Amino acid sequence: MTHRIALIPGDGIGAEVMPSALRCLEALSRRPGLNFEFTDFPYSCEYYARHGVMMPADGIEQLRPHDAILLGAVGYPGVPDHISLWGLLLPIRREFGQYVNLRPVRLLRGLTSALRDRGPEDINYLVVRENNEGEYSDIGGRMYDGLPEAMAIQANVITRKGSERILNYAFRLAESRARQTLAYATKSNGIKHSMPFWDEQVAAMAPRYPAVNVEQYHVDILAANLVTHPDWFDVIVGTNLFGDILSDLGPATAGGIGVAPSANINPDPGVPSMFEPVHGSAPDIAGQDIANPIAMIWTVVMMLEHLNENDAATDLMSALEAVTGEGKVMTRDLGGTAGTVEFTDRVLAELG
Ligand code: ATP
Ligand code: MG
Repeated sequence: MTHRIALIPGDGIGAEVMPSALRCLEALSRRPGLNFEFTDFPYSCEYYARHGVMMPADGIEQLRPHDAILLGAVGYPGVPDHISLWGLLLPIRREFGQYVNLRPVRLLRGLTSALRDRGPEDINYLVVRENNEGEYSDIGGRMYDGLPEAMAIQANVITRKGSERILNYAFRLAESRARQTLAYATKSNGIKHSMPFWDEQVAAMAPRYPAVNVEQYHVDILAANLVTHPDWFDVIVGTNLFGDILSDLGPATAGGIGVAPSANINPDPGVPSMFEPVHGSAPDIAGQDIANPIAMIWTVVMMLEHLNENDAATDLMSALEAVTGEGKVMTRDLGGTAGTVEFTDRVLAELG
């Protein structure tokens, strides 16, 4: 099968780890029956500096015919974050209905957790974040600017449709895993309208997935438990803001930002989902061949899974974990001395 992949290397180390991804995909495509057709898109902050926009007006339409989008990272000193967010990442997520943000949190063999005495057997869960609505809405405003009564109001928009689709995804994911446990983040003991509504959507859906154990956590205690009892968790689902926070906390306990992958998924076929490492363009380490390519390579594994190339995904992940498990070749952020290219060479050697 031939998969059409749109590549957006972006800026800084995003563009440096993209070749690691491509080399892995090219190695895998030597196998019979697996092929990729790559198209490069220069959308980046550098593009913005030259054209005043992050991508051309028909950028979304150019991306649409692809089976997946693989993104490095966008960001550049002097270009504010909202430019890359509103000019590229949000339009892609919205236009392609990528309502799932998925982040696996698993401590790879050979890596050290920031949590004392915790090993790979303790940290292995998935964070599912609602990606389209919730707390990050446009609804709200300011009143009485400049006066002592000044205030701002920000609406948290939880729709039935939006909750049902993210919860369906999370339940199905939990059902497919050995432990079949879904923890959901809420705050219905303090937030009066939106969070009880969210709880009701979970309760209404649970009977459709009788095999799944559903556990309710208020987001504050859930965050604490991710530190004290990461082994309790299997699949975690949260609204946009809560999911955002938990999906940064999780990877911080599992080797840090240089190893954390993510996916923005629309489970329906016909529109591309987008796969990107959690880290940004990291201008402080760009151009030195020291960026850790693990996050990007693991992101490729997620993309292969999404494309139903499960054998290729498993083999790439095994190769990656064989290298980390051996612990001889590691990048600087993990205490080693290897560069981006050298680490990638080792993974490719392992992949055979
Ligand atoms: P951006 O503005 O694009 O988000 P950033 O400066 O916020 O970029 P991040 O990539 O979010 O940078 O990461 C913060 C820091 O973590 C970086 O400055 C860098 O030192 C480190 N870091 C991030 N990714 C990696 C990586 N892949 N390998 C090694 N170190 C990394
Ligand atoms: Mg950043």
